[in-house]
Amino acid sequence: MGSGIYVHAFRDGDVVPMDATAVREVLVPYAPYDVPDGEPVEWVRAADGSDADVYLHLGVSFDRPGPGVLDIVAELARRTGAAIVLLGDPTVIVTSEEDVRQLPEDLRARAVVVPPAALTGQAIEQVVRPRPQPRRRPLLPPFPYHPDPVATGSVRAADEPCACCGHDQGWIYTGPVYGEDVPDGRLCPYCVAYGTAARRHGVFFNDVAAGRMPDEAARQICERTPGFATWQDWGWPAHCGDGAVFLGAAGARELRPYPDALDQLRRECAAWGWPDGTVEEFLAALDKDGQPTGYLFRCRVCGTHLARADFT
Ligand SMILES: [Zn+2]
Ligand SMILES: [Zn+2]
Repeated sequence: MGSGIYVHAFRDGDVVPMDATAVREVLVPYAPYDVPDGEPVEWVRAADGSDADVYLHLGVSFDRPGPGVLDIVAELARRTGAAIVLLGDPTVIVTSEEDVRQLPEDLRARAVVVPPAALTGQAIEQVVRPRPQPRRRPLLPPFPYHPDPVATGSVRAADEPCACCGHDQGWIYTGPVYGEDVPDGRLCPYCVAYGTAARRHGVFFNDVAAGRMPDEAARQICERTPGFATWQDWGWPAHCGDGAVFLGAAGARELRPYPDALDQLRRECAAWGWPDGTVEEFLAALDKDGQPTGYLFRCRVCGTHLARADFT
């Protein structure tokens, strides 16, 4: 709540003195000491125990008001019709549209009208409370075989602790976790990327068919690469002696720019003994968000696109 609040009366764009009797009648009951007759109130304490130094000049200023003091500020503004000007905040609170017209021109655009019946300390707080800033989240660790797990939906922004390291890292892994000792709760992508979850819990995230790629690549894909939900079990594709890079789920429309991937799918379906017409119908029915669905990969070596089809 900034360092201070001014309550000021304005007329025709100028600050004018406030009604001293009204100011005194509002403030004296909150003074935690005997205010001598004719002396200004210099200190108020609110019902919640918070307090503020008070300075009377043309208006009334409250230095470092606690939360309860805002109720006193509100009461003073209600009683006198004066404006509430917040130090360190562009907002000016007034109680009517007519009061907006009395403000200096540069303050008018910053005015918020809160009718007297609604003007409370809480209302002041709500008007000036800084809008919540979106949380800044750290960079994700690199995943060479699944480079954008946020785009594919396998990692999401979240404010929750990781079931492995216990830290709220700002991101959470939402894909499948396999193994016998799968921890209760979700994992952060750092515990996936650095192999912590695999080491501590023996978990893995993807299946890789044996012998398709070097062991190191297979281990990285199994143990340190985000997986994604699939209908069927199948091995991670390989090309040019390495594991392929997962680009995301893809339907017929998303696959259209990749004739190499479609051709490869076509051959795969033909190998299942499907007639040509069935294969083409199947390819046209691929749906990014439903089933059958396709998964798009790219070879890390030659750049060829590969696709996998998946359905129950
Ligand atoms: Zn973690
Ligand atoms: Zn290749």
